[in-house]
Amino acid sequence: MGVYDISLPITQNLVTWPGDPVIELEKVYQLEQGDVATVSRINMCVHSGTHVDAPGHFIAGGKSVDELDLTILTGSALVVDALEADNINAAFLEKIDIPAGTNRLLFRTRNSELWSDAQQMFTEDFVAISEDGAHWITENGIQLLGVDYLSAAPFGDSNPVVHKILLRKETIIVEGLNLLNIEPGSYQLVCMPLKIVGADGAPARAILIDEKIE
Ligand SMILES: [Zn+2]
Repeated sequence: MGVYDISLPITQNLVTWPGDPVIELEKVYQLEQGDVATVSRINMCVHSGTHVDAPGHFIAGGKSVDELDLTILTGSALVVDALEADNINAAFLEKIDIPAGTNRLLFRTRNSELWSDAQQMFTEDFVAISEDGAHWITENGIQLLGVDYLSAAPFGDSNPVVHKILLRKETIIVEGLNLLNIEPGSYQLVCMPLKIVGADGAPARAILIDEKIE
């Protein structure tokens, strides 16, 4: 049975959203310095790396990440080949013939290649969900959506309309996936955001498991 880690490694070099806190990892105590144990602390934005957005990120009074339904965060998911797409719009979603009953969609776009860049420079020109794409998603029973860059919405979406359309319907948004080596198709998704009470999002470990069990 294949298990594929689609999470980004958390390091101080991992690219973060412009203006968000950068990732800081610090060893507070270290065996090498004679301390009784090695103990680390981490300081980062909850929207760093692979993470989940909760409705409260953009909707006042919306659910926080600890209140999200784990039955949506686990289960059958379709990885869609969107390598040729410049954005995920309604026309694209209509064209790809998503099987009836699909409720978790992950988009493998050219963004996933950006994670191989050792420089880890932020890219503004990433593939994102368009406004009509967000409407299509909420109108077609999709409960979870995964993207392979740091935001589901295009850069410069200062009125965060895409997030609002999705989060108002409590569509769970998983951002910062690395789908570079993932063949399009059906998998079991397991995505577990940290249970941070009251938070607008949380870092998550996300894996895909082959559907065929031998
Ligand atoms: Zn986010």
